[in-house]
Amino acid sequence: MPPPEILTPTAGPFGPPSFDTLAQLGQGGSLEAVLDTLGECLIRTLPGSAWMVLLAHPEGAGMHFHYVRQGGPLPFQRPPEEAFTLAPGLGSLAQAVLEQGPVSSGPLATDPHWCYAPDIWRHSGLQAAWAYPLRDGNNRCTGALGLLFHAPPPHGAEAQATWQHLECMARLASLGLTLHQQHTALHDSRQELAHVLSAIGEGVWDWNVHTNQVTHNLRWCAMMGLPPDYLHHPLEEFLALVHPEDLPRVELAIQSCLAGAGPYQSEHRMRHARGHYVWVRDRGNVVEHDQEGKPARLIGSIADISTEMEAEQHLRLTASVFQHAHEGIVITDPAACIIEVNDTFCAITGYAREEVLGRNTRFLRSGHQDRSFYGQMWAELLEKGVWHGEMWNRKKNGELYAQLSNISAVRNEHGKIIQFVGLFSDITALKESQRHLEHLAYHDALTQLPNRSLLADRMRMALLQAERNHTLTAVAYLDLDNFKPVNDQYTHATGDRLLVEVARRLLQTTRAGDTVARMGGDEFALIYNGLQTPDECEQVVHRLLARLAEPILLDGQALQLTASIGMTLYPLDGSDPDTLLRHADQAMYMAKQAGGNCFHMFDPERDRRLRAHREALERVDAALHDGELELHYQPKVDARSNAVIGVEALIRWRHPHLGLLRPAEFLPIALDTEFEAQLGDWALATALHDMETLLGHGYVLPVSVNITPHHLTHPDFIPSLSALLAAHPRLPAGVLELEILESTAMGDIDAVAEIIAACHRLGVSFALDDFGTGYASLTWLRRLPVQTIKIDQSFVRNMLEDSEDLAIVQGVISLAAAFRRQVIAEGVESTDHSQILTALGCHLLQGYGVARPMPLTQLRVWLQARQQSDTRSALPAPTAK
Ligand code: C2E
Ligand code: CA
Ligand code: CA
Repeated sequence: MPPPEILTPTAGPFGPPSFDTLAQLGQGGSLEAVLDTLGECLIRTLPGSAWMVLLAHPEGAGMHFHYVRQGGPLPFQRPPEEAFTLAPGLGSLAQAVLEQGPVSSGPLATDPHWCYAPDIWRHSGLQAAWAYPLRDGNNRCTGALGLLFHAPPPHGAEAQATWQHLECMARLASLGLTLHQQHTALHDSRQELAHVLSAIGEGVWDWNVHTNQVTHNLRWCAMMGLPPDYLHHPLEEFLALVHPEDLPRVELAIQSCLAGAGPYQSEHRMRHARGHYVWVRDRGNVVEHDQEGKPARLIGSIADISTEMEAEQHLRLTASVFQHAHEGIVITDPAACIIEVNDTFCAITGYAREEVLGRNTRFLRSGHQDRSFYGQMWAELLEKGVWHGEMWNRKKNGELYAQLSNISAVRNEHGKIIQFVGLFSDITALKESQRHLEHLAYHDALTQLPNRSLLADRMRMALLQAERNHTLTAVAYLDLDNFKPVNDQYTHATGDRLLVEVARRLLQTTRAGDTVARMGGDEFALIYNGLQTPDECEQVVHRLLARLAEPILLDGQALQLTASIGMTLYPLDGSDPDTLLRHADQAMYMAKQAGGNCFHMFDPERDRRLRAHREALERVDAALHDGELELHYQPKVDARSNAVIGVEALIRWRHPHLGLLRPAEFLPIALDTEFEAQLGDWALATALHDMETLLGHGYVLPVSVNITPHHLTHPDFIPSLSALLAAHPRLPAGVLELEILESTAMGDIDAVAEIIAACHRLGVSFALDDFGTGYASLTWLRRLPVQTIKIDQSFVRNMLEDSEDLAIVQGVISLAAAFRRQVIAEGVESTDHSQILTALGCHLLQGYGVARPMPLTQLRVWLQARQQSDTRSALPAPTAK
């Protein structure tokens, strides 16, 4: 029986199949269950019939098929894994697929549709087989549903109803196949999507607007530290993770996306399960709308951008530091061409950014630093990588400014310099205040003149200049005459105004290179540079004095001031600055002493002498205290009795380096000084002490000590002499004789006579030394109560050859006789001398011919020897004591 042409599904006598299963298929139920349901439904009203389903093998391409399900009584089963290639003669179902239409066959043993089917099929006694093709969603013929009859198949209307039933079941099965196919495809694509999503490493969300459910992927869970099963949750739970500060922004973005403003995008923080916040970039869009056109579903992705944000924030921070730094910042390439500057740079220099980009920083130079400065700067920068220092640059408006710079070289990983970064601050104001402070430190507040410190500086420079240029520099010290009374008479303020006026006048009379400084009070110091001759500076000073002496009008009153000026000239006075100033001050003092309103020039030669003298005096003073001074004793004898009548004490200096020094080499130093008396006192004390020592050895010897006029007339002379004598009570009276010079009494003869008288009362006698060399008059000799006159050795020494000297010696001897004074000759060197002198009536002798001056120990030996032998010399022998 041929199959009907057109089959329309109708509700036949077979009743409807259970569609529940079919519905289940749509929700993921198994295809097998659906096919079984349909097969059972197909044969429910046809007893003894069976059903089969042939389907394209999922793995076989093209014509590979297999029987997947069967039901009802069948001789055997064909397992689904047994696949075969479709061909005619392999059964009704295969034929239906090949023909893509219904097929009716029977009896099977003879039907050509079954000719190649296995025998067990053909000879199973099956009466007939009907088959209906199955189609998938793409209308491709992918299988067949077969109905097999053990009994003869229905006829007529019943056959038609059965065909309809078969067709209906086949169509339902097709629908099932389509659904299954779709479901599988959907499942596969879901799976694929899941793979893709997990592969891209971004979190994904899928928001069903109606259910308000949000679905996420695992990546999102991992990103937020959430457990892997936290994939579905209401939107609120998702929003609860958004940082409260960012939430309004996020909600607004969602709203505007829902309102149709286009894709949703937001960067915000979301709370990680561990509590910290993660910066995310969240993007999504509406992917489905409902029937009313409202958004029904949104899908989007979330990426973790924390690192990105951190970097960005860091960049922003850096940029903000760069832009808002209080320092000017300039970045240049290795050739010092500007790449970038910040606002402060522009504010300081006055240049706009665009004006400087690409330019070499050289254009800022002021010319205040020379080539070597920049040379050093670059050398240091290249060597050390940094340079730190100050420099003066020029602004756009030409103004100078001081900057404190810090330049660093930026190197790449290969060590090559790729940039220079310069940081600088404008320290002009600082410099200004520094200058102000310096001015305060180096200037007098009242007159604004340089003070002592600055003067010292200027002086050093002036001296260097004088040396270089071979010129003279004058250092002057100026002191106003009678300023104090003026100051006292008027107010202090008036005094100040006077000083300011004086300062002004001083400045007026000096040249640019000169210096006027205030030393304090009414004292000023001046430095004149570049003078050629000493005269030149005298002229300058006279001009100065004249200008100062001009009346000063103060409050309608004319005041007059004069000054005393002391001056010294370098390098004629080659002292150091301090000393130069002191010399000028000394000279000023001389000018003051000369009555003021004048100037006095310091005499370096005189000063040198004074200084040398002072030093020498200090040296002798030290010698006295260090015990380097000694007294030597020269005996005096009486030629008639040959007795030693006494010794003269003569001072010696046993100098540690120069050996034994005679008095002529050091005594003049002490002349006319306080030290002279000290030295004299020492001589007196030593002489008395030594005589006491001799007394201990059985010698009583009168000693003569030389006394200078200054010492003799010293007010302390008599008291200390009497104290000294009192300290040696064992020494008999008359043991001490003082030798004085004629000049001693030249001043006040009465006073001297009085002193001599006082000494007589202490048992001290006097000899007039070096008689004949001075200008003593006879009246004078008469009034001076000395016992002895000493003929000066110069006459004695020469009297053998010089008749005039002999006459003087004779004269002195007769004079002494006339005035009833003893006479003694010194400088007796030979027997000739002693013979003539004794012949002339002078029996007392002293000289090398008798003995040389000698130390005390030697004197003792000499005295002893003289005691033992009378024939020792041609001179008279000593008398034993
Ligand atoms: P004077 O008081 O006229 O002392 C005599 C000087 O003549 C001594 O020199 C002595 O050494 C030296 N003289 C003695 N006999 C001879 C001689 O035969 N030939 C030569 N050529 N010279 C002889 P002296 O010791 O160098 O003393 C020099 C002067 O120094 C002394 O001259 C005296 O004025 C002074 N003098 C020495 N000692 C003292 C002292 O203790 N106090 C003070 N105020 N003056 C002293
Ligand atoms: Ca003497
Ligand atoms: Ca003498």
